[in-house]
Amino acid sequence: MAKRDYYDVLGVTKNASPGELKSAYRKLAVKYHPDKNPDDKVAEDKFKEASEAYGVLSDKSKKENYDNFGHAAFENGGGSGGFGGFGGFSGGDFSDIFEDFFGDFGGGGRRSSRRSSNNRGSDLRYDLSISLEEAYSGKKQNIQFSTTEKCITCKGNGSKPGYSPDRCTYCGGNGRVRTNQGFFTVQQTCPQCAGSGEEITNPCGDCSGQGNKQTSKKISVTIPKGVDDGTRIRLAGKGEAGTRGGTNGDLYLFINVESHQLFKRSDVNLFFECPISIADSALGTTLEIPTIDGGKAKIKIPDGTQNGKQFRLKGKGMPFMRRGDFGDLYVQIKTEVPVSLNKEQKDLLEKFRKIDNERSNPSIKKFFQKAKSFWKN
Ligand SMILES: [Zn+2]
Ligand SMILES: [Zn+2]
Repeated sequence: MAKRDYYDVLGVTKNASPGELKSAYRKLAVKYHPDKNPDDKVAEDKFKEASEAYGVLSDKSKKENYDNFGHAAFENGGGSGGFGGFGGFSGGDFSDIFEDFFGDFGGGGRRSSRRSSNNRGSDLRYDLSISLEEAYSGKKQNIQFSTTEKCITCKGNGSKPGYSPDRCTYCGGNGRVRTNQGFFTVQQTCPQCAGSGEEITNPCGDCSGQGNKQTSKKISVTIPKGVDDGTRIRLAGKGEAGTRGGTNGDLYLFINVESHQLFKRSDVNLFFECPISIADSALGTTLEIPTIDGGKAKIKIPDGTQNGKQFRLKGKGMPFMRRGDFGDLYVQIKTEVPVSLNKEQKDLLEKFRKIDNERSNPSIKKFFQKAKSFWKN
């Protein structure tokens, strides 16, 4: 079944404020809450659907990806041959959002994982342009980008060596604060410590207590064979450093495949137009044509080949990603009418015109027969 638009799911417009999103989600979550609808599969699905929609739309970077790419942004291997794709949603994510509203269900042991998710580093985007030949053969490439890295001096905890962080005075070290809203107790991330439960009282001088530092990083990436224009490659953990024990963000490579002077690409198939002379079209010939691997292939043009005729060379297209096989190469014949003829060529063609008969041009004969009967009526 096709996925519903996240904005439709929550019943809000694209311009809804964070507050509007939150209250729309809260309404649905209260209505379809599994505790209020035991053994109701429909309610459960609605609850999950709303949680997923809110999970995306309430997260600035996820929302941006969704607005740009739709559901394809979160599908593994989806879209135009996505590789890895954007991280999908796991059950853990649902429960995280869920707990943000309703407090801990199903007991403890979760907070530590939430802490790290709150301190997760940002995802990064890197745009990479490659040629069609490189998309064909795949390649290794060094890329350099600016990011944050864990501070070595304080090992990422943000405190001067020899000191440790104090308990957050606002939340008492819980990382969360509770407020009452209607008949629910709502838990929220502590605004002072951003959920870490800690307060840096003796900040590390090297990173000003941030736990990480701006840096320029160089890494080698492998571009798999068969990537297409718009393919996104996710490099897990290669984004910005997490803070205070948080996991790193991810790095997304956005691949741009440059257009080629000969070949046009559609998915795994390649195309080009091959101009040939009227003599070759009429008499037939054998042609040597270029292939994307840098080599040549021979095609036999039979006599009487018309302009626009297509020849298919099986397996001479682009590779399927993560598969051993290839698409096809289509060669379309374009018969070129000769121009700038010299005297001898003109004489020969004049001679040809004189001895030409209707049998060699059946379409011309048919057309003018129709025209004659049209004129008669
Ligand atoms: Zn530091
Ligand atoms: Zn706090």
